[in-house]
Amino acid sequence: MKKNDVVKLNITDVGNSGEGIGKLDGFPVFVKGALPGDIARVRLTKLKKSYGYGRLEEIITPSPDRIKSPCPVSEKCGGCVFGAWSYDRELEWKNEKVKNALIRIGGFERAFIEEIMEEPIGADSGKEYSYRNKTQLPVGRAKDGRIITGFYAGRTHAIIENNACLLTERDNSDIVRIVINHMEKYGIDSYDENTGQGLVRHILVRTGEGVMVCLIINGNKIPLEDELADELWSISGMASVLINTNTANTNVILGEKIRVLKGVDYITDTMGELSFRIGAKSFYQVNRTQALKVYEKALDYAQLSGRETVFDLYCGIGTISLFMARRAGFVYGVEIVPEAIENAKSNAALNNINNAEFFAGTAEEVLPELLASHPDIHPDVIVVDPPRKGCDEKLLHTMLSAAPDRIVYVSCDPATLARDLKILSAGGYELRNVTAADQFGRSGHVEVVSLLQRVSNTRERTITLDVEMEDYHRIVNGDDHNK
Ligand code: SAH
Repeated sequence: MKKNDVVKLNITDVGNSGEGIGKLDGFPVFVKGALPGDIARVRLTKLKKSYGYGRLEEIITPSPDRIKSPCPVSEKCGGCVFGAWSYDRELEWKNEKVKNALIRIGGFERAFIEEIMEEPIGADSGKEYSYRNKTQLPVGRAKDGRIITGFYAGRTHAIIENNACLLTERDNSDIVRIVINHMEKYGIDSYDENTGQGLVRHILVRTGEGVMVCLIINGNKIPLEDELADELWSISGMASVLINTNTANTNVILGEKIRVLKGVDYITDTMGELSFRIGAKSFYQVNRTQALKVYEKALDYAQLSGRETVFDLYCGIGTISLFMARRAGFVYGVEIVPEAIENAKSNAALNNINNAEFFAGTAEEVLPELLASHPDIHPDVIVVDPPRKGCDEKLLHTMLSAAPDRIVYVSCDPATLARDLKILSAGGYELRNVTAADQFGRSGHVEVVSLLQRVSNTRERTITLDVEMEDYHRIVNGDDHNK
């Protein structure tokens, strides 16, 4: 077996990023675009010691679960890894992914996990598409010199031209057309990552009750920007036209500074009975329908009677906090992005909620400080909803010393969730419920909601700023949690 060999492969599994996996005498080969059940002709492109990569040359026999992707650029674009799979199989795979992480990384028994896992929360029929309320389109040049926008091909920054992605709830091609026409009319260049030259980097569109357009530029001004703003304003529902300056050579899309060209610096969106104001820099769930189902599950797990003190860590603009506040005694929200905390405070006011308070800072710093300076505050429930890297170790130990009755852990990465649940379980908590949810249809990402119940009464409430690292290392040493 060597590079460039063409082999026949039975695809039997899916990798973490949605690639098909087939085995050659036990040696796993990852093939982008292949799906379980496919028999495929594959060219071996890269061979490592214990696994390899191959390029799909031909599907000899297609998997029975294959469907025709409705997207014309699905094969080139990196977005929809499951575009050619039936949605039932996608949901089933997402549920399995969570289960396997809990078993392999979390160290839980298979029988136990199968007993406590609930039915996965899937998208409503047809809503595995048309759900995204936020799109970030890179602006660049095609080989023939035209200015284009689209999406990055998987793993590279080559732009696949596409102005109307099927995942978005709004067809944004009118916005793209206006921006590109303006650029061509006045000779404004797109940003080039390799040289650091050129002006326009990304077009960010957010939709809710109205539309927000934020142009991310390598500079402070766009030539004749008022004319551009007026043209965008002619689109029905336009609520906010913004300029964001990002002059750094980085993959991070947004820079620090935001300037309003027209309208307000936020858009408003409604989830269930609550309304939220969202600024360009604040995190907001991209799929509001599915996010609401996840929040309802989190509320259900929190088992609130109206008296509890709840902490919502990694609270963003206060979505979970405000849903909880309506059923709890008091809610404290903590979030690292100051603009999001400003949004959270106005969102509490907007919804007439006055039993919630918000703090800007990292959860790992703010929680111990808050508890140490307010010995009278005892959290009954702690909710965490961290980014993919999971909770900071120090935070997990502070949570254990704070000893809430219940911890509701909402996660967008089953691997780091499993790692953290292992630590919390070792610290006197029992995993009671887990539900996988699909918030990102057609992509390889999966969301999870879980409930931990405190079972040990022996722990005193001692809040220290130091981390008990020894425990953590003993538990995870030698584990494959980093893979
Ligand atoms: N629960 C919110 C936000 C979840 S996304 C919602 O559903 O809308 C995770 C949030 O954690 C983001 O807003 C991010 O800015 C924030 N964050 C990242 N690292 C953090 C940290 N160390 N401490 C507090 N917040 C953090």
